[in-house]
Amino acid sequence: MAKLSIRDLKLRGQRVFIRADFNVPLNDDGTVADDTRIRETLPTIEYALNNQARVILASHLGRPKGKVNPKYSLRPVAERLRQLLDERIGRGKQVGFSTDCVGVQAEEMVAKLESSQTLLLENLRFHAEEEANEENFSRQLASLADVYVDDAFGAAHRAHASTVGMTKFLKQNAAGLLMERELQYLGKALEEPARPFVTILGGAKVSDKIGVIQNLLEKVDALLIGGGMAYTFLKAQGFEVGKSLVEQDKIEVARQTLEAARRATDKTGVRFLLPVDHVVAAEMKADAATAIIAPMQPIPADKMALDIGPRTIELFVQEIEQARTIVWNGPMGVFEMPPFACGTTEIAEAVAGNAQATSIIGGGDTVSAVHQAGVAEEITHISTGGGASLEFLEGRKLPGVEALTNK
Ligand code: AMP
Repeated sequence: MAKLSIRDLKLRGQRVFIRADFNVPLNDDGTVADDTRIRETLPTIEYALNNQARVILASHLGRPKGKVNPKYSLRPVAERLRQLLDERIGRGKQVGFSTDCVGVQAEEMVAKLESSQTLLLENLRFHAEEEANEENFSRQLASLADVYVDDAFGAAHRAHASTVGMTKFLKQNAAGLLMERELQYLGKALEEPARPFVTILGGAKVSDKIGVIQNLLEKVDALLIGGGMAYTFLKAQGFEVGKSLVEQDKIEVARQTLEAARRATDKTGVRFLLPVDHVVAAEMKADAATAIIAPMQPIPADKMALDIGPRTIELFVQEIEQARTIVWNGPMGVFEMPPFACGTTEIAEAVAGNAQATSIIGGGDTVSAVHQAGVAEEITHISTGGGASLEFLEGRKLPGVEALTNK
């Protein structure tokens, strides 16, 4: 069921509580090191300001564990937000900052807030009640506002006071523009993808992605598995994988997943591809001597696979080139080190080069990889929520989305 959007709300003069994801990296001097997350939510903030709302912004930053800790203050975010709003709509001077997200100061500052002015509240996680989704704290947050807007897709898989608890005290709980875009792209991929639909999964751990594989097996046309996680599957198939990353306690579930993949192939024709050749080294080091293990050959006992090989790249690229929907999460190898970056870079280029496909990328490492490959501009949608997008792809309901008002 479609959720209410900020575009459905009457905003003029209203106190609009926007839950943003301002969980940005900070420099040692306390300034914002990367403002991507602030920029991502600017359209929502500007939309509210342009519609004469009284804007209250809230977020978490880091893991202060329920205690006030200046290291995790959102004050630097207020500074950066001022600059950005000044540059873009000349409203930077009207960004206030409350040193607590609830209580007398927050209440007084909200009371003084005028239309088209903004107030940023201090880190929600300075109160343990936030993550505990505590009722009274939720009520206090809700009392600051007339309507609620959630733009923090990256936190939507957590049932906290600011993502779930406070919504029950407000009549209208809507998705912000960023949240809406995330749900549209990911939702369409799962529900009515243009075909062929190809999913590429990689990264270190099988355990993180087994749920995604299970949910997608009967939805996709091809599932391409690379990265460290592939070796638990190859081991389960009986291949010699040498010193490659293997999650011993996941071999059995990998075996079951391979069985399920075989059944899905019989039923829907889905192609489930694992690496057939590999780039190996004796150690995970940027200056390690590398070798290529030819297709279907065993990996020597003293070597570990750190990237997919050239034949695997070819097979994966063939799938990617004919796709009309592509979802990618997880690098194909240890892309942080140049000798093992080739697989990830070539996959990034193939995904970006397919102009007919809707391409969706999620997960911090994959996002870094497409930036590193210089192709981020050509990706249709770069998701802002790693964990949230994986849970979405697992077919799980995100509590932060469930809490929004149905249209
Ligand atoms: P994840 O956090 O599960 O998405 O995994 C990302 C990490 O997986 C990156 O830091 C990669 O360097 C690492 N990775 C990818 N492929 C391999 C591999 N074959 N062996 C070990 N680590 C890998």
